[in-house]
Amino acid sequence: MELSIVIPVYNEEENLEPLIRETTRALAPSGKSYEIIVVDDGSNDKSYAILTRLHGTETRLKVVRLRRNFGQTAAVAAGLAHAQGEVIVAMDGDGQNDPGDIPALLARLDEGFDLVSGWRFPRQDPFWSRRLPSSIANALISWMTQVKLHDYGCTLKAIRRDTAKDLKLYGEMHRFIPAIAYERGARIAEIKVHHRPRHGGKSKYGLARTFRVVLDLLTVKFLLSYGTRPLHIFGLLGLLSGVVGLLLAVFLTAQKLFYGVDIGARPLLLLAVLLIVISFQFVTMGLLGEMIVRTYHESQDKPIYAIKEILEARRTA
Ligand code: UDP
Ligand code: MG
Repeated sequence: MELSIVIPVYNEEENLEPLIRETTRALAPSGKSYEIIVVDDGSNDKSYAILTRLHGTETRLKVVRLRRNFGQTAAVAAGLAHAQGEVIVAMDGDGQNDPGDIPALLARLDEGFDLVSGWRFPRQDPFWSRRLPSSIANALISWMTQVKLHDYGCTLKAIRRDTAKDLKLYGEMHRFIPAIAYERGARIAEIKVHHRPRHGGKSKYGLARTFRVVLDLLTVKFLLSYGTRPLHIFGLLGLLSGVVGLLLAVFLTAQKLFYGVDIGARPLLLLAVLLIVISFQFVTMGLLGEMIVRTYHESQDKPIYAIKEILEARRTA
């Protein structure tokens, strides 16, 4: 199988039928073998009933139904896990993405990339609640992860199978897929794709998502930069606060011993003690982190590197 289209769906009863129809029509000219995997993320409208009906007529449709609403990231992860295609295309279930863009994504992928991400342009969402927070988030994520994309929020992307299977997604990390893949050595590209206003149903997100994105960014940044060496960051913070704390303590002790100054009521004393205590905490946290990293990698034989290819030796004697 050449292609798997993965579509997470939560209460999209009005959008499913047109979307599946449009997708099959967009893929027909390519002559590729493909499957459409719709993950029903615990919808409580008629989505599943509609999918069951479509499943009867559309032979390329595969439906994965989750037991409850686990969230978009989990739904995408379920779709990736069940995909069999060499290339996996992820797409929204509300029709805001245009299946007509899929051939362009695949063409770009064939130029030698492992992941091609869509850039919704022009974006068809409200300005204050969506486009503004989103452009701030894009700048922040690009800056922190070093993977410069214009649109991290676009679900429409094409990913090579080995890259996709390597992804471990938690929280609301589907939007960090390019950054996570990049850390594993994937080559990333971005192309402009169409974006359409939502026709039926409601958006599942509001402004509250912004905070979760920022927190997830913190996790991603930490894991990408220090995931295999937590002591380097915690130890550095610990050493810094420890050195400053010690200097202060020495200064105060000298004042007390040589000049007889009363130091008992000085805020500086409190600060010195605080810095010394947290320096021990930082270092201990870093050491615990080091142990957890070892457990994480060694318990599941997960290497700290990713191999692209091996050319075996053809002779050993
Ligand atoms: N979605 C999902 N589970 C959820 C929330 C959303 O599977 O808990 C799906 C939703 O059905 C849609 C896609 O994720 O196909 C994107 O959601 P939405 O269109 O609401 O996001 P927006 O485009 O407003 O950012
Ligand atoms: Mg949408």
